[in-house]
Amino acid sequence: METDWRKIGLKAGLECHQQLDTGKLFCRCPSILKEDKPDIKVKRYIRAAASELGEFDRAALEAVGKKRIFVYEGYNDVTCELEFDECPPKPAEPEALETILKVALMSKSKILDEMFVMRKSVADGSVVSSFQRTMLVALGGELELSNKRVGIQSLALEEDAARPVEKKAGEITYRLDRLGIPLIELATAPELFSPEEVRECAEKIGELFRRTCRAKRGLGTIRQDVNISIAKGARIEVKGVQELGLIDEYVRREAQRQIALVELKEEMLHRKITEKNFEEFDAADLSQIFSHSECKFLHGKSVFGIKLQKMQGLIGKELQPDRRFGTELASYVKARTGLHGIIHSDELPAYGISERELEQVKHKCDCIMNDAFVLVQAEREKAESALRVVVERCRQALLGVPEETRDALENGNTEYSRPLPGAARMYPETDLEPVKVEEKYLNELKKELPLSVAEREKLYREKGLSTNLVEGMRLSNFACFFEQLLQKGVNATTAATLLLEGLTQLRREGITNISNEMVEEILLAERKGEITKDVLLGALREWSKCHEKKLGGILKELKMGKVAAGDVRKIIADIIEKNKQLVDEKGMHAIGALMGDAMQQLRGKADGGEISRVLREELGKRAKK
Ligand SMILES: [Zn+2]
Repeated sequence: METDWRKIGLKAGLECHQQLDTGKLFCRCPSILKEDKPDIKVKRYIRAAASELGEFDRAALEAVGKKRIFVYEGYNDVTCELEFDECPPKPAEPEALETILKVALMSKSKILDEMFVMRKSVADGSVVSSFQRTMLVALGGELELSNKRVGIQSLALEEDAARPVEKKAGEITYRLDRLGIPLIELATAPELFSPEEVRECAEKIGELFRRTCRAKRGLGTIRQDVNISIAKGARIEVKGVQELGLIDEYVRREAQRQIALVELKEEMLHRKITEKNFEEFDAADLSQIFSHSECKFLHGKSVFGIKLQKMQGLIGKELQPDRRFGTELASYVKARTGLHGIIHSDELPAYGISERELEQVKHKCDCIMNDAFVLVQAEREKAESALRVVVERCRQALLGVPEETRDALENGNTEYSRPLPGAARMYPETDLEPVKVEEKYLNELKKELPLSVAEREKLYREKGLSTNLVEGMRLSNFACFFEQLLQKGVNATTAATLLLEGLTQLRREGITNISNEMVEEILLAERKGEITKDVLLGALREWSKCHEKKLGGILKELKMGKVAAGDVRKIIADIIEKNKQLVDEKGMHAIGALMGDAMQQLRGKADGGEISRVLREELGKRAKK
């Protein structure tokens, strides 16, 4: 069934975060994620502190309500005192700044005269200092989609947060390698009106970032937040969509959820449910009923329940595929109290709970007619706070869609994570001067803006690259370097193959210290005819082991230098001489057998074509004798 998105008033905007492949933003650590054992571990407890403007943030308060311990893991080589909040920040990383300025120029954004570094409260523990630094760089601008233009609201440079590596009750472990990696944050205007438009826009933004040749690659290096609302719904921020291919599905399913919540509200109004129905709170102790239950997770445990007046059938209402209103209640309970799982009357009988127990619960909770109930398994205090969350969320359902932040789940669904952050989140960073960008510098940058994808395709084809190499190179991080090499006159196909395939092969072998200078020098040697293209990789491999040496020395050691044409002829004449019996028997047909020998002796010293030509000539001479 085709949904008419305009009719339901779908409106969406994107906020994209792209990690940059430069050093960290406010210290000089490298931006590298680590898998090995951390060198440093630190434990911290979070407590609420008002921002310097004296306000408390909604999201911050909710996080503090949960009483958590945070463990931070650091490394000697990729983290320093700054990640642990024990020294002042350094000025913004120049390459990162240059990259965002280029993005601003490419998207016609207005670059600010003065860029202030601000602190943004982060309450989930993912930043040791509890604030993330962010710097607004440009406002306005636009993106060209296939059939419209979408406004850009802002471009900011900010620090990435630490990444959670382990979550257990009351304790989260964060790894600090990611903390401080520069992110470009690009926010579009809410001008996207269908899931397909959102997807196209996200792709365009990704392309814009990748054209700079400084966007990190791989899962998790670009993260999208999507703001979605329908006319009768409310603004919902879906956070952390990592898979671009699913972004339209998140929009579709969020719109669907909002439509379902509006229907739920209408049905509640139809049933004459009002705020009054959620006023009294009387949790019933149901432990006795389940003392000998067949239900494994309630048997002999402390169980509490609450009645939800006239809500029968509504808790089971499907909001997204495989997600019911009951699932929604459960995720609120999880986010606010840490308690996993609720049981509601619309899904019973199930889990081994008997018909008889069900009747007893209804009686004990005072349920009549079309009342529903919710059960939780916990000690009284925790159970009561969980059930209060349930009642409160049901009361909110009377208003339709509550504004909130939701986490992207793997399958295109989302779950509640926290209220939308309030406006009190930002305050100035007092340790850093505002950044001023000179007009002259911007004019320089304008001259070296990355080519568009179409321009690249055209240039590369003209230089003779195959379709595959064009495809591989046009949005590769090597593209800018490749274009510099082209200007120096290297062979385009040889260079593209070395960059895209050769270096990947070397990385797979664990060789990561090949610099651009080395690549350039070896390609220039190939152009001058000092080395053949089939040994470029081998020479780089050897060079990487002792890259303080000069290329000439490496080639000499490896005997990889090209031999003079006369020497090629001499070596081939020797081969013919050694095999004269075969040559006398077979004449020109001996070429197949001798070519193998010749290639072996001359590999790297002469081109295959030249070897074959000389061999043919020498065989011809001999046959005439
Ligand atoms: Zn650092």
